[in-house]
Amino acid sequence: MKREFAVIGLGRFGGSICRELSNEGMEVLAIDIEEEKVSEFKNIASHAVIADTTDEKVLIELGIRNIDHVIVAIGDNIQASILTTLMLKELGINKITVKAQNDYHEKVLNKIGADQVVHPERDMGKRIAHSIISNNILDHLELSDDHSIVEVKAGKKMSGKTLVELDIRAKYGCNVVAIKQEKEINVSPMATELIHENDILIVIGADKDISRFEKHLVVDDED
Ligand code: ADP
Repeated sequence: MKREFAVIGLGRFGGSICRELSNEGMEVLAIDIEEEKVSEFKNIASHAVIADTTDEKVLIELGIRNIDHVIVAIGDNIQASILTTLMLKELGINKITVKAQNDYHEKVLNKIGADQVVHPERDMGKRIAHSIISNNILDHLELSDDHSIVEVKAGKKMSGKTLVELDIRAKYGCNVVAIKQEKEINVSPMATELIHENDILIVIGADKDISRFEKHLVVDDED
């Protein structure tokens, strides 16, 4: 199924979204104020146009109203990002995703009705920080302000024990939703499942519970 997207701002972030959507066979209208950026995407996106999206007339002429989902990836120019989002909102775009540059920018975007505000540098920083804390924390994905999913590698503390013996739910209040063992993935594992060193556990829970779980069972003493 082809869906229509527009990506405004073809810097590193917008450019990467544009490439990926196009690779997945989606119809993408790529827009940037700079000719150089636009020519880079001529052979990648379905259409690539030079335009200043802070001008409502320009947006209307581009036929943006027919597009289902618009991604605003204007970087440093916060004013242009906010103005563009406001125009898109007024034109009745169904779904607007905007990249925020900082927390104030994010607040304004939420206030003016952006459907999804992303903060890639901050979120990636958080994910990498968690993996730096321990060699055994492989990934960390925020579900909300206080809940996450983490991917952890079982170390010596968990090895050779079953989920019942580890008692993760009762002791730490989080749930093991899947276990990856070599190429197999075991979703909703049984309580009697035996954990081996280097198995990968996918755990969901409140951040404070996950952090206790990490401290006691994941971070090996030599980390
Ligand atoms: P990143 O941090 O993702 O690399 P950049 O700041 O480099 O972001 O990229 C933002 C892009 O947005 C630039 O290519 C810039 O030309 C484009 N841009 C800035 N203002 C406008 C505007 N008013 N209309 C359309 N594109 C814009």
